[in-house]
Amino acid sequence: MEKVHNFSAGPGILPAEVLKQASEACLNFDNLNLSLLEISHRSKNYVAVMDEARQLVKDLFEVGDEYEVMYLGGGASLQFAMVPYNLLSDHGSAAYINTGVWATKAIKEAKILGNVNVLASSEDKKFNYIPKGYTIPNDVDYFHCTSNNTIYGAQMKSFPNCPVPMVCDMSSDLFSRRIDAKQFDLIYAGAQKNMGPAGSTMIMIKKNLLGKQTRKMLSMLDYQVHAKGESMYNTPPVFPVYVSMLTLRWLKQNGGVDWIEKINQQKADLLYNEIDRNSCFVGTVETEDRSHMNVCFLPTKPEYEEQFDKLTKQYNLSGLKGHRDVGGYRASLYNALPLESVTVLVEAMKEFESKYAH
Ligand SMILES: *Cc1c(COP(=O)(O)O)cnc(C)c1O
Repeated sequence: MEKVHNFSAGPGILPAEVLKQASEACLNFDNLNLSLLEISHRSKNYVAVMDEARQLVKDLFEVGDEYEVMYLGGGASLQFAMVPYNLLSDHGSAAYINTGVWATKAIKEAKILGNVNVLASSEDKKFNYIPKGYTIPNDVDYFHCTSNNTIYGAQMKSFPNCPVPMVCDMSSDLFSRRIDAKQFDLIYAGAQKNMGPAGSTMIMIKKNLLGKQTRKMLSMLDYQVHAKGESMYNTPPVFPVYVSMLTLRWLKQNGGVDWIEKINQQKADLLYNEIDRNSCFVGTVETEDRSHMNVCFLPTKPEYEEQFDKLTKQYNLSGLKGHRDVGGYRASLYNALPLESVTVLVEAMKEFESKYAH
């Protein structure tokens, strides 16, 4: 089988050894001669999976028991609703920054449940930068940001000093770089970008934020219910959680976030340097805000697109097509993507320039 270099933006690439273990568990899990997919989620073998999956998040973030970790269904998109449902008080407000399509969707849901103060937006320039210099009011219930703009390729390189609980959608750069997790009160991430298959979302919340609402809460939308149930209030997405656990275990065993951050930096440097050097391509994002996970670039002439598409096929480069709102190319360099794949992409870009630039 010829190797395909997978730059898909999501669901994204997973480590080969994780896929192998996951497929084995579908046939025979823990030598039970049963599939992971056909045993009780309350069996001791599966409870061990869920416990490890939750603990690994705390290990990798280097936080303690002041946080609760859970895995829920519904995607990151459900968190756009659950965050305000759980944290926004009756007459209170929440502060958001609008840095892309996902942030816009998060704001839309919060507005249905209460007052939203959009402190800053980069929509004026097609979300190609991260707004800075805004002030977070100290009388809002929480501040919400999106650490990495998956579609437009801008990434927050630092986070504001926040006088109120800080909530972050980290779906597309979770555990890709060292951050101080303790400055956040709630972090959530859909699994399918950097952690596992679609179908589960990781939520890490400070325990003191649980049970804030005094009104009656729908059980399935109440963080406290899921926290008390240790992510087993109802049947959890057993397979996505298992594969996420394997990926986090892979990350930890190889050296954790510090290890992957170095590789991610190398991958991003290699590709951005080539984009800047190569006369056939141009980056779309302000240099200081360029994402290390989703690298967006355009051909300098529209007619290049068809020819470069052909060349990328020859090189077995997959998933490079830019989001329909941006066009051009988007190379997603998630944790499991090896440096070698970026090297091959850069080779293709060089060959393209030598053949077509005039
Ligand atoms: C993909 C993505 C989402 C949406 O995730 P779903 O699991 O499809 O709901 C939300 N936020 C960000 C930053 C994303 O990249």
